[in-house]
Amino acid sequence: MEGNKTCSLGEHSPTNGILAPHLPRFARSWPRIGESLLTHIIIVGGGLTGLFASIVAADRGAKVTTVFKGRGGLSLSHGCIDVLDRSSPSRSITLLPDHHPYQLTGKANLKDAISKFRDLMLHAEYPFSGKLSKSMSFLTALGSVKRTSFTPPGIARGDLNSGKSIVLGHFSGFRDFYPWMIQKRSTKAGVRIAKVIDLPLLEPPDRRDAYSTDYALLFEDSEWREEIIRMWRPLLPGVRRLGLPAVLGVRNHCEIHEEIEDSLGIEIFEIPTLPPSVPGLRIERILLRQAQALGVKIIEGVGVIGRIDGRSRGKRVAGVVLHSTGRTIQLDADVVLLATGGMLNGGLVAQQDHRIRESVFDLPVLHPANRSDWVGLSLFHRQAYASAGIFVNSRMQPLGLDEKPMFKNLYAAGGLLAGSDRSLEGSRQGIDLATAYCAVNEALG
Ligand SMILES: Cc1cc2nc3c(=O)[nH]c(=O)nc-3n(C[C@H](O)[C@H](O)[C@H](O)COP(=O)(O)OP(=O)(O)OC[C@H]3O[C@@H](n4cnc5c(N)ncnc54)[C@H](O)[C@@H]3O)c2cc1C
Repeated sequence: MEGNKTCSLGEHSPTNGILAPHLPRFARSWPRIGESLLTHIIIVGGGLTGLFASIVAADRGAKVTTVFKGRGGLSLSHGCIDVLDRSSPSRSITLLPDHHPYQLTGKANLKDAISKFRDLMLHAEYPFSGKLSKSMSFLTALGSVKRTSFTPPGIARGDLNSGKSIVLGHFSGFRDFYPWMIQKRSTKAGVRIAKVIDLPLLEPPDRRDAYSTDYALLFEDSEWREEIIRMWRPLLPGVRRLGLPAVLGVRNHCEIHEEIEDSLGIEIFEIPTLPPSVPGLRIERILLRQAQALGVKIIEGVGVIGRIDGRSRGKRVAGVVLHSTGRTIQLDADVVLLATGGMLNGGLVAQQDHRIRESVFDLPVLHPANRSDWVGLSLFHRQAYASAGIFVNSRMQPLGLDEKPMFKNLYAAGGLLAGSDRSLEGSRQGIDLATAYCAVNEALG
């Protein structure tokens, strides 16, 4: 652990057999006659990490309960899989420091996790393309150029490495998508956008600005699509590749994308918009449906705190306590996996006393000791708070101050982990998938 950082261990820390006052002491309950003997894994978190882990665990035959108090961050993401912002992520991963999540999971887990994720998406007719060995680049809604590793069909068509000339479409009234700004700013990044064309739409919401989800729903309607294709056709002579905000449907994106391309005879690509992000929502929808199809029990809208098994001197967790309005429920588990995200979504909570607290088991959190060191001077530079998190071993078990696993049956994955500034290094979704996959396989043996 680095020199200028400190592990904050709260007064309520469940170490050394001392149980936190807010963590009730309940003995683990063993299955009764007729009750399932499958391993019961409770996954806390409904983001990419938690939903993907739920599917991997259910696929492996575990009984899975997934609990979260709010939606995860998928609707805030661009809907691609960032592995590492380098031209060749697979080569650069080997150069990362030892405590980096990718070094802990190993490359094999990353590869297998991505392959599992791509299979899931393919099965839902939302195939991802890309390579670990070579990044692709796409335009963002702010006109910058972003590298990523795996993309859905609409975004893949916009790969800037292809060199084909680009025209952007403008939907009047659409919030937060300004093609002229993209054109101007992308020039600085060496991308030439030939022109911007105004594209009319039928029935945009007229009493307020339209959001990406409004248009995504309209694009699902085949008669509406037919009409706009008819209106757009005469406006696009000579255009070979057209960039649109990423709103081409939520449920049937591939069908819609293909139909518009075929009807207009040009390549169409999507540019991920500011939130709500439709490509992120597509992934969330597919994962939720797949988890439900595999029998995962999903409990949404409840905060969770951990329970420790009092009979085994704090070395096992017993399950969790769910807090919803007016009542609490105890759930027993053989394994608990924390996929609660980092500072942004409630997994880590910054406190008045300059401590960052882990919200479920009050695990030790590694963060800079001095609060003034948490943030960098510029938004676009390294932010120390972003690397704050839980330290785990290569099995994804949270470590105590003695660097030993705190509980035999507790695992953590995703945005909650320390050891990387995922935003700065462009590794968010790769870390989520690799660590979720590794944690589930280690937990289920
Ligand atoms: C504010 C914000 C900004 C973001 N910006 C970007 C961006 O610019 N680009 C990008 O690609 N991605 C962005 N994301 C997405 C984010 O990076 C992903 O969420 C990330 O990959 C982490 O995924 P995760 O599944 O580990 O956690 P999250 O997606 O954060 O999900 C955490 C889950 O845990 C639940 N949870 C937390 N604590 C508890 C508790 N005590 N009890 C019960 N449930 C709990 C939450 O309700 C949530 O469901 C952003 C997310 C947020 C929240």
